[in-house]
Amino acid sequence: MKTDCCIVGGGPAGVMLSLLLARQGIEVTLLEKHHDFEREFRGDTLHTPTLELLDRLGLADELLKLPHSKLEFLAFQTPQQTYQIVNFQGLPSKFPYITVLPQAQVLDFLVKEAQKYPNFHLQLGANVQDLIQAGGVVQGVTYRQAGELHTISATLTVAADGRFSQIRQLLGLQPVASSPPMDVLWFRIPRFAEDQGLGAEVRTGGGKMLVILERADHWQVGLTIPKGSYQSLRQQGITTVHQTVRQLAPELAGERLAAVQKWGDIAFLAVESNYLKQWYVPGLILIGDAAHVMSPVGGVGINYAVQDAMACAKSLSQPLKAGTVTLRDLAQVQQQRFLPVRFIQTVQAAIQKQIISEALNANQEFSPPFFLKLPLMQGMLARILSYGLWPVQLEV
Ligand SMILES: Cc1cc2nc3c(=O)[nH]c(=O)nc-3n(C[C@H](O)[C@H](O)[C@H](O)COP(=O)(O)OP(=O)(O)OC[C@H]3O[C@@H](n4cnc5c(N)ncnc54)[C@H](O)[C@@H]3O)c2cc1C
Repeated sequence: MKTDCCIVGGGPAGVMLSLLLARQGIEVTLLEKHHDFEREFRGDTLHTPTLELLDRLGLADELLKLPHSKLEFLAFQTPQQTYQIVNFQGLPSKFPYITVLPQAQVLDFLVKEAQKYPNFHLQLGANVQDLIQAGGVVQGVTYRQAGELHTISATLTVAADGRFSQIRQLLGLQPVASSPPMDVLWFRIPRFAEDQGLGAEVRTGGGKMLVILERADHWQVGLTIPKGSYQSLRQQGITTVHQTVRQLAPELAGERLAAVQKWGDIAFLAVESNYLKQWYVPGLILIGDAAHVMSPVGGVGINYAVQDAMACAKSLSQPLKAGTVTLRDLAQVQQQRFLPVRFIQTVQAAIQKQIISEALNANQEFSPPFFLKLPLMQGMLARILSYGLWPVQLEV
């Protein structure tokens, strides 16, 4: 098989790039190792620039027909008080909020859109094994599908294969990692018909922190714990988790909480933040989490993956049409994205230090830094989380 652009990984980065290139008439093959786009506990938050892109593509209205919720504020609730720390309402946009929509549905929607173009080819259950290289240039990949090994050659290979990127490993690239102070335990608690909606809430008290996200038929709950404390928590037993839920979200206790009975009902997310110094080699570029794993602070991971896809579409569409992608073209993508990624990772690190570490400190009552209580700062933080240093300007 031969294609112009072989994209490895059907997450937000790979799927959005597939659509943007397919619309340009470029031959695109998307390889995804799973058989569908359902994933357990993935990000569901779409920030303003992603909605703006979808709007310019003429897709926002259709996507927003799917059941979704809107987050206009981010706030911390302590037993004493609620502190609003981010206010998206003042964003200069048709979409001044975070849209919360299950990631699998967004990916399905975008893939269906891409499938309207005959030059887009999707291979599900296609697990990439190795790179094809000649003369130091990546020329495609091999992948295993239904027990058979296939080869696909491509003018450009894009590694959008996520935080555990196989391609990054094959290339021997080592990300520069920092160590966020927390990990997260995710679990579901059933939502009963009489349960009131609450959007998203962060509750904190006594050195514990619980993120509660409203879903159609359940509550997605994230228990934030100090980094490295997971094993000792397990030794203490699952009742420790129950106690925290009872303490911070008493309305979810009792019958609802009974659904979380064993550690198998809980998914452990080791929070990471890292970046590659160089995102490309001849014939290949890494984007999204494969190039930079984002901390969950602010729920910006999808947004940054989509922005990378936009930068690729902007700088690489013409070279792909011409049939040659140079190192300079690939460097242009990294130039657009490297500083915005490092900037937001620095902001996330500051929030982790100033807010999350403080909230996890059992020896003091949590209160956010004074400047975050100023409405002006809450608006600025919304701008920073949504638009970052500079959003990619892509004409569609
Ligand atoms: C538990 C959790 C919660 C999160 N919450 C949020 C949130 O609320 N908001 C937010 O914005 N972000 C969140 N994130 C981060 C967000 O999901 C990622 O930043 C985003 O999905 C990155 O997109 P991506 O396309 O780069 O990679 P991914 O979404 O990881 O997609 C990579 C794809 O590559 C495929 N793949 C991997 N290896 C191969 C292979 N060898 N062959 C073929 N395919 C392969 C995978 O199956 C996967 O589909 C969360 C992440 C986790 C883990």
